[in-house]
Amino acid sequence: MFLINNQKFFLFFTKCKTIPVLKRTRYSGDLRGRCNKSANYLCYYKKRNLLRGEGVKNQHILEVKNLTKVYKGEGHEITALNDISFQLGAGEMVAVMGTSGSGKSTLLNILGALDEPTSGTIKLKGMLSKDMFQEPQASAYRRDNIGFIFQAFHLLKDLSVEENIALPLVLKGLTSDVIDLKVNSIVELLGLTTWKKHRPVQLSGGQQQRVAIGRAIITEPPIILADEPTGNLDFNTSEDILNTLVSTKKQLNQSILLVTHDPNVATYADRVLFFHDGSIVDTYNCNGNNDLDYILEKFKLITKPEKQTL
Ligand code: ADP
Ligand code: MG
Repeated sequence: MFLINNQKFFLFFTKCKTIPVLKRTRYSGDLRGRCNKSANYLCYYKKRNLLRGEGVKNQHILEVKNLTKVYKGEGHEITALNDISFQLGAGEMVAVMGTSGSGKSTLLNILGALDEPTSGTIKLKGMLSKDMFQEPQASAYRRDNIGFIFQAFHLLKDLSVEENIALPLVLKGLTSDVIDLKVNSIVELLGLTTWKKHRPVQLSGGQQQRVAIGRAIITEPPIILADEPTGNLDFNTSEDILNTLVSTKKQLNQSILLVTHDPNVATYADRVLFFHDGSIVDTYNCNGNNDLDYILEKFKLITKPEKQTL
């Protein structure tokens, strides 16, 4: 299974159907005037962000209320999420920190309408969408609102950097002119210009994750859901990717929910939610002052084994 343009695809389908479409679109494109178009597009981003209300931090893009997820097996139940409530502000980056099995991925999957909660509500821009977990509404919700970034980069190995990034737009049926314009702008934004004709196998892990970020943001979704995006990267490359995420978030005025078990990664967020056994047990607002120490301390308290009673 593969996620592109926030639709579920199977690889054989992708190989059979999308590559010819992609080639047709790319090779029939008018390549003239790309630079001017690219500059215009960045200008368009700025204008659009003003319209979106850049800097209005108090506006909630997501409001999650009493979210519970119970997985039922034969003779047993697992409560992966237990009455979770929080808000994600416009332009805000929130880190979800917790030990393995604490429900982080379950939360992201539900917010991305890849899984359905047992109970609770999610409001998007103040609106409740009761059918957001049913198809075709779920696909439309993902397409219009969500960009996913995963620990494994999930790039298509037969496509170049620019083709991988272009894929969601090709699937949307945009014209080659518009695709060229947007792809060039994103390639430039992510510092991938030198590698745009390369294939994933010719890139480092960090470069591949940049391409995955490009693919996630090319449709300009207001929300990015990132599940351990630096989990496969070394320390320096992780820092590079996190700086890229923070910088593109600012430029595109996006909101990011980033799952991690790494306290250093969490310091890049505006706010940290600490998860334990499916519940939010603490929060911390980063202020640039000893954030790592505070986060480490809180995380230690959460993960400390409970006292044994004799
Ligand atoms: P995390 O991402 O924090 O490691 P998960 O959200 O993946 O945790 O899992 C939370 C709990 O829910 C775990 O106990 C896990 O085994 C369980 N779980 C997750 N997905 C499923 C599923 N599809 N079926 C049954 N149990 C699941
Ligand atoms: Mg997980």
